[in-house]
This record gives sequence, C-alpha cells and structure tokens, in this order.
Amino acid sequence: MTVIVVESKLRLDIVTPHGRIFSGDVDEITATGSEGEFGILPGHAPFMTMLKTGMLTCKKSGDMTYFFVGGGYAEAGPDKVTILADSAEKAEDIDVERACAAMKRAEERLEQAEDYDFGRATASLARAAIRVQVAEKRTVK
Ligand code: ATP
Repeated sequence: MTVIVVESKLRLDIVTPHGRIFSGDVDEITATGSEGEFGILPGHAPFMTMLKTGMLTCKKSGDMTYFFVGGGYAEAGPDKVTILADSAEKAEDIDVERACAAMKRAEERLEQAEDYDFGRATASLARAAIRVQVAEKRTVK
C-alpha cells in the first residue's frame, strides 16, 4: 500500500542580521518577491526567490500576523519557509514615529536630489512607507 503524506503545516523562520524575529508553525504565507506577491501553502515545491521591501503575512488557525520585510531571500520547501531578511519587524514592534521621521528625511533628500543618493533615498522612503502600512495592520489589544 502506498501512503501519501500531505504536509499540513509550514514552519516559518524569519531571520535578520539582528536575530530571529519569528519561528513557528503556520498554515499559509504570503510575501513580496522580486517578481511580485507570492503565496506558499504546505506541500509547495522547493524554490528560492529574492524579496523586495514589502509585507509578509502568515495565517494560523484563521489568525493573521503581519510583518515588515526590508528585502532579502526566501527559501521554501514542502514543510518549511526560511526568510533571510535585511531587516524585518512584526507589525506590533514597528515604531511608527521613527518610520514617519525616516519618511520625512527621505522626502527632504529627494527634494535636494543633487546632494543625495537618489536610489538610497527612494529605498529608504519605500521602507518607511511600508512600515507605516504594516503597522496599521497591528492587533489592538
Ligand atoms: P531608520 O532610518 O529609521 O534607521 P531604516 O529603514 O534605515 O530606518 P533598516 O536599515 O531597515 O532601517 O533597519 C535597521 C534596524 O532598525 C533593523 O533592526 C530594523 O528592524 C530597525 N528599524 C528600523 N526602523 C524601524 C521602525 N520604524 N520600527 C522598529 N524597528 C525599526
């Protein structure tokens, strides 16, 4: 008799240069890849992709958890997804005042584009704007 084991959980690890910010079993993940948003369910074929600055969500028993991811790599297999992020925070851990200050700084730099690195200011603005968006998803307790 052939027994087919269908994976029902995904182990998600989100690792940054500052440490592991999440490790746990989830039902479903969506993230922002270099080619756009993608979703992973248990049993997914192995793949790797670069990540853009964006939101990562995971669902467990119907509950959503939201993260900011500041770019990096994702490696997925049938029962495991590892996110190696340049920076990442759970929505609840985002300092919104800091993100707003970073956004203002980046906007000022873009207005004086000759004196500043345009690419760096644009990337900084994107990180700050997405942090604010992700923070809006936080659970109010
Ligand atoms: P800033 O200009 O405010 O430093 P940044 O986009 O340059 O922002 P990153 O290089 O992405 O910051 O991250 C550096 C470290 O600071 C990481 O550990 C990241 O998690 C943390 N961090 C940055 N901004 C915030 C924020 N608004 N809330 C919480 N942690 C943050």
